[in-house]
Amino acid sequence: ELSVVQWSSSGGLVAYSDSRSQPVNKNDGQKKKVVVLGTGWAGTSFLKDLDASMYDVQVVSPRNYFAFTPLLPSVTCGTVEARSIVEPVRNIIKKRNGEIQFWEADCLKIDAENNKIFCKANFDNNTVGSEEFSLEYDYLVVAVGAQVNTFNTPGVKENCHFLKDLEDAQRLRRTVIDCFEKAVLPDLTEEERRTNLHFVIVGGGPTGVEFAAELHDFLIEDLVNIYPTVKDLVKISVVQSGDHILNTFDERISSFAEQKFSRDGIEVQTGCRVVSVSDKEITMKMKPTGELCSIPHGLVLWSTGISTRPVVKDFMEQIGQGKRRILATNEWLRVKETENVYALGDCATIDQRKIMDDIVAIFEAADTDNSGTLTMVEFRAVVDDIIARYPQVETYLNNQHLGDLTDLLKDAMSEDKKEVDIEGFKKAIHLVDSQTTSLPATAQVAGQQGKYLAKCFNRKNQCKEHPEGPRRFAGPGGTRHFFAPFRYKHFGQFAPLGGEQAAAELPGDWVSMGHSTQWLWYSVYASKQVSWRTRMLVVSDWTRRFIFGRDSSRI
Ligand code: FAD
Ligand code: MG
Repeated sequence: ELSVVQWSSSGGLVAYSDSRSQPVNKNDGQKKKVVVLGTGWAGTSFLKDLDASMYDVQVVSPRNYFAFTPLLPSVTCGTVEARSIVEPVRNIIKKRNGEIQFWEADCLKIDAENNKIFCKANFDNNTVGSEEFSLEYDYLVVAVGAQVNTFNTPGVKENCHFLKDLEDAQRLRRTVIDCFEKAVLPDLTEEERRTNLHFVIVGGGPTGVEFAAELHDFLIEDLVNIYPTVKDLVKISVVQSGDHILNTFDERISSFAEQKFSRDGIEVQTGCRVVSVSDKEITMKMKPTGELCSIPHGLVLWSTGISTRPVVKDFMEQIGQGKRRILATNEWLRVKETENVYALGDCATIDQRKIMDDIVAIFEAADTDNSGTLTMVEFRAVVDDIIARYPQVETYLNNQHLGDLTDLLKDAMSEDKKEVDIEGFKKAIHLVDSQTTSLPATAQVAGQQGKYLAKCFNRKNQCKEHPEGPRRFAGPGGTRHFFAPFRYKHFGQFAPLGGEQAAAELPGDWVSMGHSTQWLWYSVYASKQVSWRTRMLVVSDWTRRFIFGRDSSRI
């Protein structure tokens, strides 16, 4: 009897015994079984677009709701209520044309060899009956997201707050209020009051910055009036190991944010690495001097990046990706080294194929008269397939301000001979791969990937008969990929900075900052809500806050 020991999502070790080895989703084999793990951005957008009548669909997730993560920072200070940004999964799936089963459980193990997963229901208290079950799949869609990365810094797990899911945001909201209530207790020294009101944010990325901005707004708009005696003792610090906050954004935005924070009295400490956190103090190392310094805190928010979940790590070991940091898929989102497992969103990354790996095959395919050289006419016939197959080509052409891939070849051709041989071809193309980039871990990417994969699943049969992807250069001559590879479209990103001001990076190198950008932010985030119900709730929360301010009860 097989027994599985795994880390659960909450970090505890869980033993799973395969006593009930019969998978719960046996069917008559008419429909292929699709098992989806996770109901975040990627999983939900996949489910919303999947033609559920074609498959036998099962969904496993420890949360029975979808959370609109970009508004999580607003939940920490009560600008929006938690329930306004969630949509129950069962609401989402009941609207589908086929039947979708949902199980509120953690997937503890993927058994890649036997096409099976092992799950455990996600309840703290005893449930009646068995909490464990297994499911078999024909296709597995892994969309479990990522977990916080503590970089094994001592004390972080025990003493820091995180802002990854809704429970974190709710916990933060209670703790912020607690800090104020503690600070106004009688018989405290001023030093003790200051300590309770020192809010430290580790990580100057979008999440940390937005939390700092929310907290500052909450302070000056609401708390100064209700805790007047301690209002001058509050301090917000952002600790960043790099040189600037928001360093993934345009420089103009990052310096705008730094200036705004300095006007607001939010202290930004750059070049500092946190080495440990205790319940009372946070200890950091100053980069240039190597000096250690400890400061007392009332609350620490740790938001420095993400890492792979244990269940995915274990799966990676099974399929020979154990040495990688993050699960790799091909451009069609299929996990490398597997036939029927797909991965999308924060838990995976697309490993782009290098054009140089296929250069000989491309050359041979293009050289239709087998002359050993390419003419412009020959090259033109494959240009579209190259651009469709290798996304880095488009990036390269844009960055080099080239209109057309044939421009590269033109440069390689000498005046007298209007042809190029394989060496010349390699030389013309070899810089293109330097533009291979990995996509950011954002909701935008996850959502687009879910939508894309659903479309592929819906059209599996059609596209097998009539492939619509680019030509397979390396494969047997003349065949095509069934689908076009996934392409990400960037619509820009926002950084709300508090005080009704925001910064935004828009497509085409546009940067916009200030009050009008905040209004753009309101309208974009309202329109992005998954349902009219949540849209109304969010907008009415904003309106309520404008009129009455935020609620400071510790609930
Ligand atoms: P998630 O949305 O994290 O979903 C993972 C799902 O898997 C969850 O339902 C989870 O319960 C489930 N799960 C976990 N473990 C298991 C398991 N063992 N078995 C089964 N299911 C499991 N992105 C933007 O583009 N714009 C923003 O403004 C923005 N703001 C953000 C603000 C905050 C505070 C945070 C934390 C993130 C923000 N992001 C933003 C990033 C964005 O939220 C993520 O990139 C996105 O959620 C990734 O989607 P996902 O589906 O891969 O993972
Ligand atoms: Mg030729």
